[in-house]
Amino acid sequence: MEKIKMTTPLVEMDGDEMTRILWKMIKEELLLPNIDLKTEYYDLGLEYRNETNDQVTVDSALATKKYKVAVKCATITPNAARMEEYDLKEMWKSPNGTIRAILDGTVFRAPIVVKGIEPCVKNWKKPITIARHAYGDVYKGSEMKIPGAGRVELVYTAEDGTQTKELVHNFDGPGIVQGMHNLNKSIESFARSCFSYALDTKQDLWFATKDTISKKYDHTFKDIFQEIYDAEFDEKFKAAGIEYFYTLIDDAVARVMKSEGGYIWACKNYDGDVMSDMVSSAFGSLAMMTSVLVSPEGYYEYEAAHGTVQRHYYKHLKGEETSTNSVATIFAWTGALRKRGELDGNQELMKFADRLEKATIDTIEAGEMTKDLALITTIENPTVLNSEGFIKAIAKRL
Ligand code: NAP
Ligand code: MG
Repeated sequence: MEKIKMTTPLVEMDGDEMTRILWKMIKEELLLPNIDLKTEYYDLGLEYRNETNDQVTVDSALATKKYKVAVKCATITPNAARMEEYDLKEMWKSPNGTIRAILDGTVFRAPIVVKGIEPCVKNWKKPITIARHAYGDVYKGSEMKIPGAGRVELVYTAEDGTQTKELVHNFDGPGIVQGMHNLNKSIESFARSCFSYALDTKQDLWFATKDTISKKYDHTFKDIFQEIYDAEFDEKFKAAGIEYFYTLIDDAVARVMKSEGGYIWACKNYDGDVMSDMVSSAFGSLAMMTSVLVSPEGYYEYEAAHGTVQRHYYKHLKGEETSTNSVATIFAWTGALRKRGELDGNQELMKFADRLEKATIDTIEAGEMTKDLALITTIENPTVLNSEGFIKAIAKRL
């Protein structure tokens, strides 16, 4: 069979530990036999990040701006233990943070739904994609403990020195206070990323805040979304047959529980932090969750939502057998290949991505899976495969 040709390279960001092992297997067993794979390779493994003073991470993000599509393996975010383990020159920052700062994107997390791995919420039939705003609010808040009676005010000093004040509270005893902020520019790019991704995936977009209580802060989020929707996306949404739906956050939570899924739920920073863990655990497994960073300029970086699966890697190093789930990493590749195909008008590449996803899902639905899924599946007597065996089973079906 002739291999599928590619015209433009993908940015390939290799990573660490067990996911680095899976990465190689996926390429060798599933991709290279079928595609004349063109990638620009960046090694984001911790050793090479350390060797290059983390320049390789910056370079890989800049390459993503050039080629528009990247696929990333999970990477170690160093902590004190890793400083010693890898003899690091510095405690390098999280690569995901560095890449996000350069691309200014929003992360969309979506579960991979298969028969036999049933969500805890029984009416959820389709994936619910969470989009979390990743700037400001309580994550960049300043706080104070108020020791006793006194007055707390918000003070804004304009560049010309004029001041505007707003009373927070007249304390008559000890208490606490918090100040937080956000930027119109950041909310605007969050809104654009969400609307573009909804169009891209042809799914409705939901957004919710507490604008009835927070008449200036949350209301600004609501207003910015509505202004951008009306000015730039209304016609496109109608043409695509999808909807933008705004409601209050408590109403949204109630509706999400009763829905069948199949939409994108845009969340403010804190709501997204909390709700993404609820949605992902209710859908079954972190190993079945993909993640894509979408920039407002239309750059895409695909990855798995889980980490480097350190515990399995140490078993692997000792020569023991592992049964690590590669589904989210495979779907990171298919997401990137499909997007590459779409941007290049490469139908064959897009079809390959569909076929590989189908082969992966069919393998699980036929009862062949890794241990993490075997523990939670409703399929009777599943066959538990090791890390490599599972990828080979997919290759056979493909
Ligand atoms: P992890 O890699 O998410 O794994 C935590 C546990 O979840 C595993 O020990 C395993 O449970 C289970 N698990 C996760 N993914 C799995 C898979 N694909 N197949 C089977 N089981 C899976 O988190 P971690 O081990 O605590 O973190 C390791 C490193 O990942 C850290 O250095 C962290 O900085 C990094 N990290 C990177 C990213 C990223 O690059 N996006 C995200 C998160 C964390 P059992 O052990 O019970 O089998
Ligand atoms: Mg969290």
